[in-house]
Amino acid sequence: MATPRIPGTDPDVVELPCGEEVPVPHFDLGMRDFDCACGERHGVVMDIHPPSRFFPPEVIEVLESMIEPADGTEFGTHHLLGLVIEEFPKQVVDANVAANGRIGCQYIWVSQFDSRRLHHVIVELVVELMDHAMSHSDDDSAKADFATSLDAFDVDAFVDRYRDERDLDYPA
Ligand SMILES: [Zn+2]
Repeated sequence: MATPRIPGTDPDVVELPCGEEVPVPHFDLGMRDFDCACGERHGVVMDIHPPSRFFPPEVIEVLESMIEPADGTEFGTHHLLGLVIEEFPKQVVDANVAANGRIGCQYIWVSQFDSRRLHHVIVELVVELMDHAMSHSDDDSAKADFATSLDAFDVDAFVDRYRDERDLDYPA
């Protein structure tokens, strides 16, 4: 008979948004999508994946200057995933797998949707964030420039192009 345990407390198991429980060693550092027993393909992100997985360096620079993390840490991937969790609390899980030590990262995030959709969601949220920050700016010409580039910005096209251009294998 299996020993009863409290869900979410086993450091060797990640409980996915769909309810499946997956042993930590089933994930590896190069994984971006997890083909789940539930039939879905879930997006996977780890804290060692740099923010450049989602954005080019010039965007990351803007984000670094714009976002002052309350926890005093440098802007990073976990802040991006924090935005997603805020927006979709039931569709993304985060798990601290440091105690397991098998895959070489501390945090892992798994989304109900796949990694392409996750990338799309992250880009949309960051654009919103920039738009919001810009609306508080006193610089009218910068505001106008931003509004113009925002109108021309196609999230789908950006995500497709970025994913084509980047070598998506980690660690590099
Ligand atoms: Zn699943």
